[in-house]
Amino acid sequence: MFRAGIPALLLCASLAFAAPLAAQATPVAPATAKVHAEKAPKPPTKDELTEDQASFLALVSREHPLDPANYKPKDLRDVANSGHELRKDASAALESLLSAARKDSKSLVLLSAYRSYERQVSLFNGYKARYGTDYATRISAAPGTSEHQLGLAADIGLSTGQCNLKECFGDTAGGMWLASNAADFGFIIRYPSDGEKITGYKYEPWHLRYIGTDHAKAMAKSKAGTFEAYQATLLKAAKTPKAPKAKPKPPTDAQVKEQRESLLVLRFLPPYRDWSTGYDFGR
Ligand SMILES: [Zn+2]
Repeated sequence: MFRAGIPALLLCASLAFAAPLAAQATPVAPATAKVHAEKAPKPPTKDELTEDQASFLALVSREHPLDPANYKPKDLRDVANSGHELRKDASAALESLLSAARKDSKSLVLLSAYRSYERQVSLFNGYKARYGTDYATRISAAPGTSEHQLGLAADIGLSTGQCNLKECFGDTAGGMWLASNAADFGFIIRYPSDGEKITGYKYEPWHLRYIGTDHAKAMAKSKAGTFEAYQATLLKAAKTPKAPKAKPKPPTDAQVKEQRESLLVLRFLPPYRDWSTGYDFGR
């Protein structure tokens, strides 16, 4: 019905509501994340994976909505004077990424980053009014289920506007650079081309999710094609119970008897008590 002629706005589209802002307004520090030491990521706890929405490994999707729905991260920072915010670490990492892209002659711009619950309500209602609820649900995250609300997701485009928020972005030189280099800065392509059955969303080569450099690199090396799959392997490892402590064996009847007898003997071995208080075998 509505498929023909509808731009690939999808879940993170916001171009209809906000003009793209160039992220290179201010020169930023050279890419430091590139020299990040290779090391195995610290194993996360189960809480970090399933309960703590402030964790860089928090999973947010239709099946895993934010709680409370109007959750707002505490450490939002502007990204390179773009007017878009991300959480502090993600903001610094994205500035490094954009700077490194410029050095490689790729003019990437930040199109959208943190979106509040209220902003998502407004976006979603706009899509519903235009396309009806069914289609709106397919192209946009319902309020409280958008990864952008975590302050860890960013939509990247080209300064030329070519293929912005469209699948063909993945085939541009900038899109390919992003796919190859994002992990060095702690980002993953959250909705890969063959991941719809697992992620619930179509291919979005422009949508980055920050999970930290160690995990982004570990995920790239792993066989997990999606964040869901990577998160599941971490969760499985976190759930693995430690080897149970060997339970002390209960004493045998003979041991109990022997112990009782030795105690009884002690009672009669002076000097072991204050004789003035008399005997008290009941103690
Ligand atoms: Zn997005």
